[in-house]
This record gives sequence, C-alpha cells and structure tokens, in this order.
Amino acid sequence: MTIRNWSENILFSSAPIHEPQTVEQLQEIVRASRKVRVLGARHSFNDAAAIDAQVDVDGTQEVIRDSSAAYISLEQLDAPLEIDSKRGTVTCSGGITYGELCVRMNAEGAALHNTASLPHITVAGACSTGTHGSGDGNGNLATAVVGLEFVTADGELKHLTVEEDTEVFEGAVVSLGGIGVVTRMTLAMEPAYSMQQYVYEDMPAAELYENFDEIMSGAYSVSLFPDWQGDVVNQVWFKHRTGLMGGKNGAVDAEPEPVDLGLPPTLYGAKAASAHVHPVPDISAEGLTLQMGMPGAWHDRLHHFQIDSTPASGDELQTEYFVPRAHAVPALQAVEGLRDRFRSMLWVSEIRSVAADRLWLSQSYGTPTIGIHFSWRKNWPAVREVLPLVEEALAPFEVRPHWGKLFSVPPGQVQAAYPKMEDFRELLRSTDPEGKFRNGYLDRYVFG
Ligand SMILES: Cc1cc2nc3c(=O)[nH]c(=O)nc-3n(C[C@H](O)[C@H](O)[C@H](O)COP(=O)(O)OP(=O)(O)OC[C@H]3O[C@@H](n4cnc5c(N)ncnc54)[C@H](O)[C@@H]3O)c2cc1C
Repeated sequence: MTIRNWSENILFSSAPIHEPQTVEQLQEIVRASRKVRVLGARHSFNDAAAIDAQVDVDGTQEVIRDSSAAYISLEQLDAPLEIDSKRGTVTCSGGITYGELCVRMNAEGAALHNTASLPHITVAGACSTGTHGSGDGNGNLATAVVGLEFVTADGELKHLTVEEDTEVFEGAVVSLGGIGVVTRMTLAMEPAYSMQQYVYEDMPAAELYENFDEIMSGAYSVSLFPDWQGDVVNQVWFKHRTGLMGGKNGAVDAEPEPVDLGLPPTLYGAKAASAHVHPVPDISAEGLTLQMGMPGAWHDRLHHFQIDSTPASGDELQTEYFVPRAHAVPALQAVEGLRDRFRSMLWVSEIRSVAADRLWLSQSYGTPTIGIHFSWRKNWPAVREVLPLVEEALAPFEVRPHWGKLFSVPPGQVQAAYPKMEDFRELLRSTDPEGKFRNGYLDRYVFG
C-alpha cells in the first residue's frame, strides 16, 4: 500500500506500516528494522515523515519497497491519558490528536496554553516540527512539553524530563522525528478557560504597520489574514480569554456565560465582522470555530477549525517563514512587495506571533518571532518558482522556515539559522548511532 500526506503532494515509500498495541511490540519492531519513521497524522507538507519520498509533480512515481524499513503508527498504542492535578500535567500517547486530547482534558477541567489552527494533528508529530498557534505570550506547542518517553534505535525505552535532563531535553522535543519513537509525552496544563473570538475586516495596512505591537498584543491570540492584494489586511482574528470554565454550579461542561469586553465596532480602521467568516473569501465559515464573540471552551476557540471539519481549503500547499519579532514590519513590507507574484496563486496568508523559547530546533529559539504563512493553491510548479523569491525577500531578516511545510532555503542556510544545530546532531548520534531514524529530510537539513 502506498500512502501520501494530507495535501497529497508527497508519495511515501511503500514500506510496511506497523501499528503496535504495546510498547514491547514497538520495541521489537524498532530492533528488527533497518530504517524506521513514525507517522503522525501526515499533515506535514514535505517529506519530514517519510522514509523516502517523491514529490508528486506529474503523477509518475518510483515507489520503493524495502521490507527492512518500517513505518510506525501509534494509533493502536495502549497509552492511557493521565491527569496529575497536583503537578499540573497531563501525560498522553505521542500519537493522540490534539482534538481528542483537548476534549478529554476539558472534560476534566484542564487546558493547554495554546493550539494550532487545526485539531487533527498528533501531539508528537506537531511538537516534532515546532508547530504553533499565536499569542505574544504563547510559546509554540512544544513549549508545553515537560516530559518525554521514547524508544531509541536499539529498542531501549528512555525517559527525559525538563527538570532532570534540562540540556538534552531542550534538544529532544523539537526532534524532526530523529531521536526515536516518542511513545508518551507529559504536557503542562492549566485550569480550563473560556474564550470569545472576534473578527475585524479590512484593516488598512498602514494602520497595521504603525501599530503592529499593539494590534498583535490586543488579545490572548491574534491572527492576521492578508492576501496582500489591496492595501488592507483582509481579516484580523482576536481570541480573548474571558474566565475559567465551570459555570455557576462549577460543572466543567457548563456553557460559559458571555462577557462584555466592550470592543468597539471599528479598530485601527477595521470593522467588526457582521457574520461568521472564513479567511478565504467565498468559502463557507461552516466548520470554523465560532466567532462573533460567542463564548466557548478554550479548544473550541483557539483552533480555527472544528474537530469534525475539513481544515483550510482542502486543496493547498503551505509554506511559512519565521522572522524575529524585531523585524516584523519590514519583513511584512518585503513580502507585500511581491504581491503581483501572489495573485492567482495564493488562497491567503496568516501572520501569527510566537514567544521565544529554549528548544534547540524551535523556530523561536532565543527570540520571539512572527510566523508569515502562505496557503498556496495546489500547483507545485508555480509554488516552487515563487518560494525562492519570498525567501530572498526575507533573507535579510534571519529567516527560519517551518519544519513541517514547503521551503527551498538551502540546507546550509537552514542549519546556520540554529545556533544549537551541532548539539542536535550530537544528540541524534547518541540516540541513533547507525542512523536508523534518519531519512532524506534529516540527511539534507541536519546532516547534509
Ligand atoms: C490544514 C493544515 C493546517 C496546519 N496548521 C498549522 C498551524 O496552525 N500551525 C503550525 O505550526 N503548523 C500547521 N500545520 C502544519 C502541521 O501542524 C505540522 O506539519 C505537524 O508536524 C503535523 O503533525 P502530524 O501529526 O501530521 O505529523 P507528521 O506530519 O505525520 O509528522 C511530522 C514529523 O514528526 C515525526 N513524528 C510523528 N510522530 C512521531 C512520534 N510519535 N515519535 C517521533 N516522531 C514522530 C514524523 O516522523 C515527522 O518527522 C498545518 C498543516 C495542515 C495540513
């Protein structure tokens, strides 16, 4: 059986897929295999999750069959969810999706600090690539991780915690799948909170550039959606925290009460939307988390897409570049300068802020960043031509590409953007001396 990623632009080699039910079975598979890759939800747009892959440009593929190579899916792994209220942590399978995790945590009155736009991705897969949401005070999703359990290349089960193994731990969380099979993860949690989401439309770009910091810090999580074609940001989404879940009787599943935040009808020249809207004009807002200030649980507002929806346009390729927050406005202006090249290629962009962290391969290592994201129409030859132009425009701004999306930044430049890259190589050599977990992607961007 051959498999593809979510966006179907990558065809994975046809190595067998194993679905172990126990950690012992998993250890056996790893010991017996020459090459191993773990599959998350396969939502990455590049070959990060593939043992070997072909980029699907014209439909003709060479499919590799290697019976000593193995894909591993953790979907069947028996790994119960454990909430430790005293320590303020939740321990879960690396293969659980955020959708399932969030619903189960909320039912117990617990919450994560942030989520990505969609709940369909797995916790280990997302943290491996530095997946993020938005919010000036919010680190990416991997910053919530305080403990890791993983199977190394020799089949050993290892545990790391942020308290006891700080240095190595900071290298092991955003791992690009290189340290081994992450079986269980412990995440910091907090009491479940309620949120209200508001959208403003057509913010003049001049207002944005003039007031960038105020606008990005205007709510717990803020996203800008420009298509760069007019002199406006098409939509600005503000996700406000409004209190704790719990209702009057303390029941965690009680609907939160609406809170009047006194938001004005016009903000920095943008008008409050009068209906629920999708970031891409003419696509229905059905399937999006509710806007218009309707109160809801944290995970029903932090995600843009509801659990049972098809996220985004469903027909797209994505790229994203991070630049230090200090360069945000000139970087956005540089991208805007390419607007004529984007016309007819782009569904929409999204700009989000991410707090600095200490995770070696995090795109926000050592600096708060702005993520400049592009949802392209699915036309790889056209996207492949425009990526170097975007990358050239952003080159003066210490750019780091998203590990899970498409980019053409040369491997040497990618490596140079991470001060701890050599330490990361050393870490992988120590957990995987023979390169069992190495794939073409790691060979290029880490060892190349
Ligand atoms: C519609 C859409 C919207 C998106 N929105 C966002 C967003 O809001 N923010 C953002 O930052 N990104 C976003 N992404 C990108 C996505 O979050 C990342 O690509 C993420 O890594 C996908 O997680 P996954 O579970 O699909 O992992 P995969 O793509 O399957 O795997 C990613 C990497 O993790 C490794 N891996 C997976 N599981 C394990 C494990 N248990 N142990 C060890 N290694 C493992 C894989 O081998 C691979 O190297 C979006 C993608 C799509 C398709």
